[in-house]
Amino acid sequence: MYVVTNPANGELVEEVANSTNEEVQEAIGRVHSGFPGWRSRTVAERAAIVARAADLFEERVDEFANIMTLEMGKRINEGRGEIGIVVDIFRYYAEHGPALLADEPLDIKGGRAVITKSPIGALLGIMPWNFPCYQVARFVAPNLVLGNTILLKHASICPRSARAIEEVLRDAGVPDDVYVNTFASSRQIPAILADPRIQGVSLTGSEQAGMSVAAEAGRHLKKTVLELGGSDPLIVLDTDDMDETVNATATARMRNCGQSCNAPKRMIVLADIYDEYVDQLTKRVAEYYVPGDPADPETKLPPLASVAAADEVAAQVAKAVEQGATLRTGGHRIEPGAFLEATVLTDVAPGMDAYYEEIFGPVVIVFRAETEDDAVRLANDTPFGLGASVWGTDPDRLRRVAERIDAGMVYLNRAGGSQADLPFGGIKRSGIGRELGPAGIEEFMNKKSIRL
Ligand code: NAP
Repeated sequence: MYVVTNPANGELVEEVANSTNEEVQEAIGRVHSGFPGWRSRTVAERAAIVARAADLFEERVDEFANIMTLEMGKRINEGRGEIGIVVDIFRYYAEHGPALLADEPLDIKGGRAVITKSPIGALLGIMPWNFPCYQVARFVAPNLVLGNTILLKHASICPRSARAIEEVLRDAGVPDDVYVNTFASSRQIPAILADPRIQGVSLTGSEQAGMSVAAEAGRHLKKTVLELGGSDPLIVLDTDDMDETVNATATARMRNCGQSCNAPKRMIVLADIYDEYVDQLTKRVAEYYVPGDPADPETKLPPLASVAAADEVAAQVAKAVEQGATLRTGGHRIEPGAFLEATVLTDVAPGMDAYYEEIFGPVVIVFRAETEDDAVRLANDTPFGLGASVWGTDPDRLRRVAERIDAGMVYLNRAGGSQADLPFGGIKRSGIGRELGPAGIEEFMNKKSIRL
């Protein structure tokens, strides 16, 4: 069942029945049979349709922002911001797709070759609820321009986003056998992956879902892209403006109520400024992040996406404290709804669960590092490797530290975020493959060598 429950007050809004097995089969059949026609169109035709989709997302920004606020509690202005980047992504691939798909001539020993770039067929996308439109855009826009067709299974708390996205694509001119939304359950995914008509799968979500999908896809030798969790470090080496550093780093952590895969989740601060940073951060988090209605543009701290998510994060915080961490502020659930006080933890040490796991909510953990080497050691002492950021006043030092961090992305004096033209993805348990930028169109591409 796909269920919309307003996380701000716990009210049940809508229930949508899962697709039956017959409906799933019909949907697979459609995206399979739509592939030859879609791939045979010119890149320019496909790009024009993708450009129209960008315009429609832009026109319908308020509709999407309202849906996300209702479904998963996103602050209304953050919803509008999310559609802004969705528009950028569709425009980026519409504009750059033709050049990215151009043949590449190659001089080789004894002659010449050319690399051509073609689509591989019907793909399955499995998407999460935290950025219901942006995550879909990262996968869909490049693959539509490339010529692949798409079966999309969205998170089960986001059926309205799923429908509204399908509607935009249809209205933009994407045929109904090229992009198909399915309300399949995760139990139906193995059968979809086993189906020879599906050529690959892209999943954005948790490690558990990633492992399960990768295992099934591997059994059937299907290409996989996995965008999974993170526990990104944010290193503060020094600062000449502590207020600005505290506010910028707190903002980055609290974006989307702390439910961003690449939010900085572990602040690592050098010893000489650690006490000042912790004091100011605690004050900022306690005073500024007051819970409120996500539909009100003035609200600073919305609910989490569901009561289950809020309970889980509250339990992680309680466990950390039980295991010896210091709770500087927050930590309590607020009801009705899925609210959790904005929280700061310190004294988290190896051996505690919170040291290793991802905390997907408004919780900042601050670590004290004795030296630059110690900061790098702490940053890399994690099973994840999604993003990281390094803050300080000396550009050479920032760059030197960035080179030593094991992550797919490092930002200097800025935290996380995402933009259409910059590749996004992780290493270690944060996933496999890249989305966005030139890399994002290559994942489900047949780079064919033709020996001339
Ligand atoms: P999730 O529970 O893994 O769900 C993500 C999607 O996978 C949903 O559509 C879900 O369907 C489906 N799913 C769950 N278990 C599955 C299984 N065994 N087989 C097939 N599909 C399955 O993740 P989430 O809680 O929605 O999202 C939060 C996680 O995503 C966090 O760890 C976050 O860091 C990560 N994330 C990563 C990125 C990135 O780019 N690296 C971006 C955003 C989020 P149902 O809803 O029906 O269960």
